[in-house]
Amino acid sequence: MSIAINGIGLGGGIAIGNAYILDKNLSDATLHLVENEDIADEVLRFEESLRRTRRELELLRVNITLNAPAELGAFLSLSIMMLGDSQISQSPIKIIQTERCNVEWALKLQADRLALQFEEMQDDYLKERKHDIVQVLERIFKNLDGNKFEWEISGKLEHGILVTHDLSPADLVHFKSSNFSGFVTEVGSLTSHTAIVGRNLDIPSIVGTAYARQLIKEDELIIVDGVQGVLIINPDPIVLTEYRKKQQHWLDTKAKLRQIRKNEAVTLDGINIDLLANIESADEINDVKYNYANGVGLFRSEFLFLAHDDHLASEDEQFEAYAKVARSMKTSPVTIRTADFGIDKNPSWSYSHQNEAMNPALGLTGVRLSLAEHTFFKIQLRAILRASHYGDIQVMFPMVSSSLELKQAINHLSYAKEELADEGVPFNPDIKIGAMIEVPSSAIAIKPILALVDFISIGTNDLIQYLLAIDRNDETVNYLYNPLHPAVLKIIYHVIKSCNKANVPVAICGEMAGQAKLTRLLLGMGLRKFSMYSSNILNIKNVILNTNIESTMRVVNKILRSENIEKIDELVNELNIDLDF
Ligand code: PEP
Ligand code: MG
Repeated sequence: MSIAINGIGLGGGIAIGNAYILDKNLSDATLHLVENEDIADEVLRFEESLRRTRRELELLRVNITLNAPAELGAFLSLSIMMLGDSQISQSPIKIIQTERCNVEWALKLQADRLALQFEEMQDDYLKERKHDIVQVLERIFKNLDGNKFEWEISGKLEHGILVTHDLSPADLVHFKSSNFSGFVTEVGSLTSHTAIVGRNLDIPSIVGTAYARQLIKEDELIIVDGVQGVLIINPDPIVLTEYRKKQQHWLDTKAKLRQIRKNEAVTLDGINIDLLANIESADEINDVKYNYANGVGLFRSEFLFLAHDDHLASEDEQFEAYAKVARSMKTSPVTIRTADFGIDKNPSWSYSHQNEAMNPALGLTGVRLSLAEHTFFKIQLRAILRASHYGDIQVMFPMVSSSLELKQAINHLSYAKEELADEGVPFNPDIKIGAMIEVPSSAIAIKPILALVDFISIGTNDLIQYLLAIDRNDETVNYLYNPLHPAVLKIIYHVIKSCNKANVPVAICGEMAGQAKLTRLLLGMGLRKFSMYSSNILNIKNVILNTNIESTMRVVNKILRSENIEKIDELVNELNIDLDF
């Protein structure tokens, strides 16, 4: 039977291939008999996962901050102690050997056995410990999955389609080097960080396809239409033929776009537009150059820390990454945003901050976290400054909510400069400073911020989240997340106008900058710098090359005057009437 599920398409075209289901829980473990000669390998897999789990827990414990609840330390110590208990560290090995089964199955059997034993206890306190012990086994199981992730992905997943409940942005970063043709997650929304990183992979992908894992069988043929956000399981032959044609059309369009790769982005009325790239790691620089970006408008530096889950990227490691990008971009600007950790992007050392917050999106994120973690901030600023000697690096602070906060961040930058100067280390003393405008307060009261910076970049992903009170990671409210909400357009217009008036260069680096449907509107609002994933650049350039800003102004002005969401939608369609997206 063929089934279709609607989700949120991240683009990337159409993939047709066999499903590979990842991300199972302990309760999903299935039995595989293991040959005699492979038992030792299976035991080794278990031991490695045990080691990885211990390291993970110890790292968490070492990095507990003062404001963490007292129970956290005790909980982590208890979990670490449990790892040494023979019920956890030895029994699964015995099960593997006697049952000749895979580790997953052994962990499941052991969890079931222990749960039963604890259930039978009279003491309520001990009964409760059942959850703790099962959680520890679950953690070992997940780390095993991490293992599988790396070794199976390159083999079995080759050209397959990954189906998973959720993927963290850090997992996706690991994925970049794998050869798979599409991915589907059950949760997620358009501007979650998973979606943002996923979109950058430039392969067909859909998020928010609830129950996909229940409906798809391993290895089943599926179609991922990343453009329409439709997942088709076990397609009929007619549907399959239709999608093969659509797939070809997509590939032909991409080939046409490649022809404008080297063209300058100039409108029909002769206005030059800066097309910049968003990156998460220095490895993406080839894509940036391939698409002839005018520079890097946003380097999400926090991904540097997410990539190392066992240690914090040191000053030298950071310096190397920033300097690599700066050198290869030569005289083009490279904007490094200081770490912007949030609920879906946090390394293990900041877990305690994030997990304890009642409402993490309103908690210690962005520049607030940097200001609270002086040493961490100083190291990052030193690394950025040192790299500024090797190219046109600029520094940008995320989640600035007032000029006061921005001043504090700039003071830290000044201290780091003084330190480096005393040490005789070269850096650019005139490094350009920018602020992200993504908190409504700083968008509305922008004047004192403009007095402190050399440039502004509007983070529309968060600006929309905070203005419309919609969690960008929550698929249940995703239908309300609307870049064309009149309040969103008014606030963005206010920022662009204020910057243009004060002669402070302004870019958008949120997802809106890469949405072709919005390009003409943003040009009409006075935006001249767009920063987006490299994979979007040609699409946006194509719209720019086919736009006369002057002649769009009548409709743009109507849009900006309107407070009617439906009317705005109609007008935006009118604005793009001659374009084929
Ligand atoms: C934004 O908020 O628009 C932005 C660019 O930052 P991030 O998506 O990393 O939060
Ligand atoms: Mg943001």
